Amino acid sequence: MSTPRIEVHLSKIRHNAKTVVERLKTRGIGVTGVTKAVCGHPAIAQAMLDGGAVGLAEARLSNVRRLRNAGMTCPITLIRTPTLSQVDQVIQYCEASYNTEILVITALAAAAIRKDCIHGIILMVEMGDLREGIMPKDLGSVAQQVVDMPGVTLKGIGANFACLGGIAPNAADMEALSDLANETEGQCGPFLHTVSGGNSANLPWALGGHPACRINDLRLGEAILLGVDPVSGDQIGGMYTDAFTLVAEVIETGSKPASHPQSICDPVFKRLHLVPKSGQSTQIILAVGQQDTDILGLSMPPGYRLIGATSDHLVVGTYHSTQSVGSEMKFQMNYSALMNAMSAPDVKTKLLRGSHSRHAHVSQGSGNHLASI
Ligand SMILES: *Cc1c(COP(=O)(O)O)cnc(C)c1O
Repeated sequence: MSTPRIEVHLSKIRHNAKTVVERLKTRGIGVTGVTKAVCGHPAIAQAMLDGGAVGLAEARLSNVRRLRNAGMTCPITLIRTPTLSQVDQVIQYCEASYNTEILVITALAAAAIRKDCIHGIILMVEMGDLREGIMPKDLGSVAQQVVDMPGVTLKGIGANFACLGGIAPNAADMEALSDLANETEGQCGPFLHTVSGGNSANLPWALGGHPACRINDLRLGEAILLGVDPVSGDQIGGMYTDAFTLVAEVIETGSKPASHPQSICDPVFKRLHLVPKSGQSTQIILAVGQQDTDILGLSMPPGYRLIGATSDHLVVGTYHSTQSVGSEMKFQMNYSALMNAMSAPDVKTKLLRGSHSRHAHVSQGSGNHLASI
């Protein structure tokens, strides 16, 4: 079978989605499955829907097109502010989009009128991540302009946390977003259908005991795909962390001097030496590299350590190797490694449709992740 490849256990993704959907349902929070890390892969998106996600969200229109071309008819929301050059396609492929710029909303409205439809607008509010978002003080006036604009409808508001800033939201943030929803309704009239609290980083809050207030949607990618909390890197109870595996092929094995002082100038790499640098170790070269994935986001199998990587070669060391040229090695990936591998042209995707074991388990402790990006 061709390598490098990603093996995808669809039933584990379905299980993860179902687990989080059921836990959040009791709190009145629906799950929107985010497919950007898997480039809008239709079968993986379908596994999220089969697990109970109410719709999908994507950052890129190219991925949305891939989903639609595969025949997916569920609601798809664009979660990155549309580019002005793509407004016509946004109207064609997406029910709604997250927005922060009135100029873009005006263009979306004009495109919607040309197509004789109504496009949903969710206004993204800045609540501390300092990436995208309207400042809370300006929300009322932008919302009013959307309400007054033909071609679009104000569907809701949302916020995003822990993407640029890396800080998870707390109960006070969620109360503040809920208050903004109430205030916006008070000011502009229409009921806000969606109040989207954030992404996978919101799960510690959402699964905790705090009141959900007005929050009725979370946009979840990493938690469903990898079963981990993106901020801590910890497994989420009852979720699979091994739905995805990167398989690479050995192209050279041999004894090399154990120490490579000249090759390890990057301080991050220095910390990655997991076994003592003494004695003879076997050096194994695999046909995968930085061009295929984020090497620092791979978990080394037990007994192996990362020596280094270049664009096309991954070099690992071990003291007790059973690997030979042509054999395959498997690696778990963090989000960054997964995202890069899924979009790399030489990495194939192999879907495994069989059922999984009954109980979710920690496949490789998160401590084995060499870097959390
Ligand atoms: C990527 C993204 C998400 C999903 O993030 P995860 O950490 O994968 O759950 C949600 N909302 C926005 C705006 C995003 O950009």
